[in-house]
Amino acid sequence: MLLLIPGPVTTRIEVRQALTRDIAPWDNAFRDFLARLRGRILRLAGGVEGQHAVLPLQGCGHFITEAALRSFLPPGGRILVPASGAYADRMIRLAREAGRVAVTLPVGFGEPTDPAAVAAALRADPTLSHVGMVYSETGSGVIHDVRAVGAVVRDAGRRMIIDAVSAFGALPLEISAQPEVDALVFTTNKCLEALPGVAFAVARIGRLVACAGGAGSWSFDLASIYEHAVRSGWGSFRFTPPAQILAALDVALDYLDAEGQAGRLARYTANMRTLYDGVRDLGLTPWLPASRQGPVIVNVHAPADPAWDLQAFVDALKSKGILISNFHNTPSPTFRVGCIGAITPADMAGAVRAMDQALREIGITHREAAVP
Ligand SMILES: *Cc1c(COP(=O)(O)O)cnc(C)c1O
Repeated sequence: MLLLIPGPVTTRIEVRQALTRDIAPWDNAFRDFLARLRGRILRLAGGVEGQHAVLPLQGCGHFITEAALRSFLPPGGRILVPASGAYADRMIRLAREAGRVAVTLPVGFGEPTDPAAVAAALRADPTLSHVGMVYSETGSGVIHDVRAVGAVVRDAGRRMIIDAVSAFGALPLEISAQPEVDALVFTTNKCLEALPGVAFAVARIGRLVACAGGAGSWSFDLASIYEHAVRSGWGSFRFTPPAQILAALDVALDYLDAEGQAGRLARYTANMRTLYDGVRDLGLTPWLPASRQGPVIVNVHAPADPAWDLQAFVDALKSKGILISNFHNTPSPTFRVGCIGAITPADMAGAVRAMDQALREIGITHREAAVP
């Protein structure tokens, strides 16, 4: 079965095979392993030893995003969030439920964030200490320019938190080139092509120390994770780790090292093109114009045909070995297809053929968009 949902993604058998051992996380062998794994991640993030810390947290992307917001914004602290789609909305709600103030900057759905609009919003409100930004907005499929926005945040003397959950490993990121960034956060089960269960922040040490004590949650406190590492060693994980998931990540990083970030981005881009052009050739309508379509996820308009039924389409595709999401994140009905994971353009071409068959099976004759 190909998982095109997008995330958790299709993984290699070699990655999944790392789960077959029992592991004692407090044993010295695991400590050596974890310290080395942290070093690998620091290098991938473009971090600098002594300036940036790799902070793992058990769980999902939602958890690490909350941890970053709590750890760098004080209670009542104010963050500007460009409202780029479903995952920006999550960041806004996470901030509010943690007792921080999220101020939204409207962004047209499917449009990139305008750095000039961020600069103007920061000028207009000096009480905004942070900008929270989704790098790859998995809701829309648009990639937002975190470097250009980061430059205006830096010029304004403010700080930034980057949700890189569906970006890290494939899209370029270098935290040492962006000193305005307090933390970037990501999980293992998207562009890193590993398994779900652990999330990471790569964070600025000086800021962790300066903000320590304000999280209001022991579980979601990045400064506490940092202090634990300083006290007990970088091979020590605060509370029981998902050790097998980390072992699988280590194997997945071997494949990323071999392919390189640029190679991975090129493969995902080729996957996306095969899918984008393929669905267009089937008579379907992609949601985004090609110029704004990112390499991570493609939303496709639901066909105008009254026989359209997303779940029926999903089930028909599943019977052909292709699994896509059974929900959509766009303002009008769509289906969404992930282009990330251990898959190739040939897999995507097969997925397009399966879509053609599935549309016939569920009785779709009009494939053009209902809402163009
Ligand atoms: C997947 C994703 C998340 C977090 O998802 P979880 O289900 O909590 O792991 C956050 N942001 C973006 C952009 C994502 O794609």
